Amino acid sequence: MKLFKCQNCGQLLYFENTKCERCGYALGFFSSQTDLLTLIALNNQAFSDVRNQGNHYRYCANSQYGTCNWLIPVPSNDQFCVACKLNETIPDLSKQDHLTQWKNLEIAKHRLVYTLLRLGLPLSSKHEDPENGLVFNFLAQDDAGKKVIMGHDEGLITINLAEADDVKRLALREKLGEPYRTLIGHFRHESGHYYWDRLIKDSREKLQSFRELFGDESVDYGEALKGYYKARPPVDWINSYVSAYATAHPWKDWAETWAHYLHIIDTLETAYSFGLKIKPVEELEEKLVANYEHDPFIVMDFKELIDLWYPLTVTVNSLSRSMGQSDFYPFVIAPSVVEKLNYIHGLCRG
Ligand SMILES: [Zn+2]
Ligand SMILES: [Zn+2]
Ligand SMILES: [Zn+2]
Repeated sequence: MKLFKCQNCGQLLYFENTKCERCGYALGFFSSQTDLLTLIALNNQAFSDVRNQGNHYRYCANSQYGTCNWLIPVPSNDQFCVACKLNETIPDLSKQDHLTQWKNLEIAKHRLVYTLLRLGLPLSSKHEDPENGLVFNFLAQDDAGKKVIMGHDEGLITINLAEADDVKRLALREKLGEPYRTLIGHFRHESGHYYWDRLIKDSREKLQSFRELFGDESVDYGEALKGYYKARPPVDWINSYVSAYATAHPWKDWAETWAHYLHIIDTLETAYSFGLKIKPVEELEEKLVANYEHDPFIVMDFKELIDLWYPLTVTVNSLSRSMGQSDFYPFVIAPSVVEKLNYIHGLCRG
């Protein structure tokens, strides 16, 4: 994520801020500029950009719930911003905890959309493009106990609201023996399934190159998943996959690797935004020295990015351990996974 600053007073801002803590000006994210704008209130509804006062905006309709700080330019009749247009079903807000949980989902979803926009990937809502668009269902298990199955189906991504409850999500993580389970991880993983359809499915050439790296996806998906949950993953999975889950089926491998690509590119952008440099005081191997001086979204050579990723994860894992926290990045990336990531980088650059 990039760094934002108040255009009125220079204060450091976070992506989710709605008001500058120092000068009190209103803030809103304008997706066409991928920037947080500092705003002057014209009336209850309309605002102008402090730097370009002729440009007027209002907030996305979801700002009334505190779940969105994105802007809509005033001549537009849209009710929702680019990110909230993607919602098909939101939780029943009359139920306890649903608003808090929905807010957590929206933070993760907006961060995902930011990255997709920066990558220049095709992104439209099913409401506008029924055939190729994307929408989200945020579902809570109903009182009858009907299970919510998370996943992607032809542009519809279902996320279980219970995943926004930290206690429940961590319990599930323990049960499944996963080293990492986060909301943003779910959004990144599921978006991978959607973009497989958009970027690969209809191109014979791309299908072929996909199969060379990830395997034949035409094997039965349901059976493969059942098999995964019945048997243990192969002991040497770490040499070819980014996670044990990725061994279940080529589509899972793709979605898990896609999620890691988004983890890497977003985190490297944060390192770049802060002007990070890593130079251990002890003379260690050369590959632990790194200078985060390029915006990863414009770097063409994936090797450059992966060389920067290793020292960053070692450094931040060490910081996490100093604070008694579990590792920030509890994964090892094998050379064959780098190849898969490189393939995804090439697709996104294309
Ligand atoms: Zn300010
Ligand atoms: Zn919105
Ligand atoms: Zn999946």
